[in-house]
Amino acid sequence: MNEEIPQLPNYDEPALDRAFATLADEVRSETASLADIEAFRLRWLGRKQGRLKLISDAWLKSAPPEARKPLGIRFNQLKQQIEAALEAADAKPATPSTKAGLDFTLPGIVRSPGSEHPLLKTMNEIVAVFHRLGYSTALGPQVESDFYNFEALNFPPNHPARDTQDTLVLAGQQSKASRDRLLMRTHTSPVQIRTMIAEAPPIRIVVPGKVHRNDAADATHSPVFHQVEGLCVDTNITFSDLKGTLDHAMKSLFGSDVKTRFFPSFFPFTEPSADVQISCIFCGGKGCRKCKHSGWIELLGCGMVDPAVFAAVDEQRVAQGKQPAYDPAKVSGFAFGMGVERIAMILHGVSEIGQFYSGDMRFLEQFA
Ligand SMILES: [Zn+2]
Repeated sequence: MNEEIPQLPNYDEPALDRAFATLADEVRSETASLADIEAFRLRWLGRKQGRLKLISDAWLKSAPPEARKPLGIRFNQLKQQIEAALEAADAKPATPSTKAGLDFTLPGIVRSPGSEHPLLKTMNEIVAVFHRLGYSTALGPQVESDFYNFEALNFPPNHPARDTQDTLVLAGQQSKASRDRLLMRTHTSPVQIRTMIAEAPPIRIVVPGKVHRNDAADATHSPVFHQVEGLCVDTNITFSDLKGTLDHAMKSLFGSDVKTRFFPSFFPFTEPSADVQISCIFCGGKGCRKCKHSGWIELLGCGMVDPAVFAAVDEQRVAQGKQPAYDPAKVSGFAFGMGVERIAMILHGVSEIGQFYSGDMRFLEQFA
């Protein structure tokens, strides 16, 4: 750094003004296109070889005593100018490279790893419990015919039980026979019928899926929701098998302390039918606001497959040229169904069903 030290002709005010104006210009032109901030800092402010140090040493050495003060003031101003330039350069991001039209200084795009939606997660957890019991997954269409959704499940046309499921029907079906008219399935149960028509017993299936009802949305209802259905048909299947299976499933989902109890109920496709309650997982059965102080939470419906369902299945099997395989004197079975949203809400303490469908990341991130 053997740069030339500018000469100072004399120490009067105009000479000092001119000399320092030249130095200030020098600093300004360097900072205008500052590439290496550190090199600039060293060049001017370096402790031993810095330009500021060298010039002030040279000029002060031969300065008359009365010129020392004005010199000192001007060197201070120059130093401040350099420091201000350094500060500004530090605050400014490095000059982007535009050579290839790319700005390498932009932060990269970080894609968060995806994770299961809480409903899918809950559905998979339920299905996994039954997979461990030897059940396999069966799926079916969401647009169903009246036959699979109602008639074969022992809901005859015009039967009042149909009123419990507000059905969304497809338009323009009037010219078809009643059983062939299409609708949005109101439950996953049609998959029971499809599976039994296709296969002879033994059957152990679990059916996760989306169902549709003409329900107004509120805190606990949605026109589209999810169910997991199960069906087991074999010889000598009894109600105690049903109780044991569901008791095990509830303990697997909610913890081994959970108790289950069964109440008589009605579903057209099972006889006898039952509603299943579990002991409240929040208060352990003592009674709290969540269980309406009863100590129990109602969770699912179930029952023994109605012989009328077996009859409808065999009738269809024969119509398709298959052997009848569901003689109620020889086989029996049970079926159950549960709402995924309801279970997810209980498991995660969610009070608004709509949050599952809102796509709000603040809600969904909590399950990642
Ligand atoms: Zn409770």
